[in-house]
Amino acid sequence: MKSSRQTTLRSQVTVTGIGVHSGSPVSVTIGPADINSGFVFTRIGADREVQAVAASVIATDFATVLGDHLGPLVSTAEHVLAALRGMGVDNATIEVDGPEVPIMDGSAAPFVDAIDRAGTVQQHAARRFIEVLKPVQVEFGESFGELRPYAAGFRAELEIDFANSPIGRQAYAFDLDADSFRRDISRARTFGCMGDVTKLWSAGYALGASLENSVVFDETRVLNTEGLRYADECVRHKVLDVVGDLALAGLPLIGLYRSVRGGHKLNHAVLTALMADRHAWRVVEATEPVLERPVVARRARGHADVAGGMVAVAFAPDVS
Ligand SMILES: [Zn+2]
Repeated sequence: MKSSRQTTLRSQVTVTGIGVHSGSPVSVTIGPADINSGFVFTRIGADREVQAVAASVIATDFATVLGDHLGPLVSTAEHVLAALRGMGVDNATIEVDGPEVPIMDGSAAPFVDAIDRAGTVQQHAARRFIEVLKPVQVEFGESFGELRPYAAGFRAELEIDFANSPIGRQAYAFDLDADSFRRDISRARTFGCMGDVTKLWSAGYALGASLENSVVFDETRVLNTEGLRYADECVRHKVLDVVGDLALAGLPLIGLYRSVRGGHKLNHAVLTALMADRHAWRVVEATEPVLERPVVARRARGHADVAGGMVAVAFAPDVS
C-alpha cells in the first residue's frame, strides 16, 4: 500500500561490483536513516558525508558527481538514487568504499533488488514533497528541458533523437510509482555508441565500461549478443536517469518533467533553475489519514493551503 508517511530501509544491504570509470571493485551499502534526512552519501575512510541535493553536484559530464568544498566524494550516484526514489524510499544512508557507486549491469535493477532484500518501513513523520508551482525551462543548443506543475504526482515525458544510429528517435511518458518503476524503467541499461566509448577509453574514462554494463551500438546494430531488454531501452534509461538526477531536489517532486535530447547536465540545470526561483516551488506535506494515492492533490487555484490530502508547510528543505 502506498503511504503518506516517510519511508526508510528496514536494514542495511550491500551491493558489490566495479566502478565504471575506474574499473576497480567497489561496494555500496544502503541503510536506514532518520526522518527528514533524505539521502546522505558517506565514504568509508574519508570521514565526510554529502547530502544528495542539487547544491552537492560538482560535475555532470559523464555521470553525476557529488562532493563539497573538499572536492568530489562519490561519482555515478544517479542509478542508486533512481532506485531509492523510484521505489518510494525517502530517507537512506548510502555508504561507498571507493570513489564511485558500482555500475552493476548499468541499470537500477540490482539496487531495486537490494531495496527489496532490505525491506522498507514507514516512519513516524508525514511524507514531504516539492510541488512545482510554475514552469521553469532550460535550453542548451538542441536540448530542451522543463519542469511544470502537475497535480497528479511525478510524470516524465522524454524524447531522444540519435540520428545516424540504430537508436533513432524514441519517446516515453512515465508516471512514477514503485510498481511501474520496477517493471518499466529499473532494468533499462546505460547505453553508448562504440565511437564514444573508444574516445572515453583513450581519455582514461569509462575503464570499467563493457557489454556487461552498457548497451553498445555501432552504426547499424546493437553489439550485445543478448540484445535489448526493451525495444526502447535507451529512452527508458533516460527516464531512469531523470528519476535519479531529480532525486537531488532533496524531496520527491510533484510536477511534470519534459526533456528533448536531455542528459545529466540538462536535468541538473532544470532542477537548479527551479530551486533558484523561490516562487516556482513549495514544500507540501502529506496529511493523515493515509491515502491510497498520497500525491493526488486536486487544488483550486488561490484556495487555502489544505487540499486533496496535502498541506503546504512553512519551512523550506535543505535544497538550495
Ligand atoms: Zn544512467
